[in-house]
Amino acid sequence: MGQIVDIGKRVELVPMDPHFHDITIALYQQGQDENPLFLVHTYSQMEGAQKRIQFAVEAMTHMGNLVENTHRLLRFPCGAAHQLACRRTFLESCKLSPNDPVEPRPLQILDKKSRLTITVNSLGNGIYQVMADGEGRRVDRRISAIAGGLMKLGEMEEVDGTLDKVAFPCGHSHDALLGLLLVRAPNVRSIVREQEMAAARGILAAPSQQN
Ligand SMILES: [Zn+2]
Repeated sequence: MGQIVDIGKRVELVPMDPHFHDITIALYQQGQDENPLFLVHTYSQMEGAQKRIQFAVEAMTHMGNLVENTHRLLRFPCGAAHQLACRRTFLESCKLSPNDPVEPRPLQILDKKSRLTITVNSLGNGIYQVMADGEGRRVDRRISAIAGGLMKLGEMEEVDGTLDKVAFPCGHSHDALLGLLLVRAPNVRSIVREQEMAAARGILAAPSQQN
């Protein structure tokens, strides 16, 4: 009894899970740059809470293509942290109710702002190209804005000064993860605001306030 286990550093928080009695669910990171592991955890003792956590873990494996290393410890197949992308996968997974379909998102979206269909092509080695069903300067600008959104959300890199190609620095493809980030990429400003608020919450919420 009273055994203290180091579960890692908390990197993301869902203060109130709308799909399960407003429990608090957190994402912890164990290890830094070399093969870090991510743990989904709640302190809630409520019956069914562990089942809810298991759902979130499984959703993360499908939506972000993380793999469950050992019980509830997740990692990316490439071994890189991709911390920001992992946090986004966690948040999106916790937004799902047990009745929602849990499957990777396609690498195509309808961009509401421009009314363009945006498609992302995997070029291998972690490189992705953003394309649209149109031409002209306005379309090019939109493509580069969405590529920029992917870079911000996924900590991806520019490729040789191009405006339409982005890459995961690990050099590995992460199609499911890209699909998940692509949904948010056109609206990156509100996402950045959400991230700042989450960061503030992380600082403000003392462990005693967790449940
Ligand atoms: Zn990777």
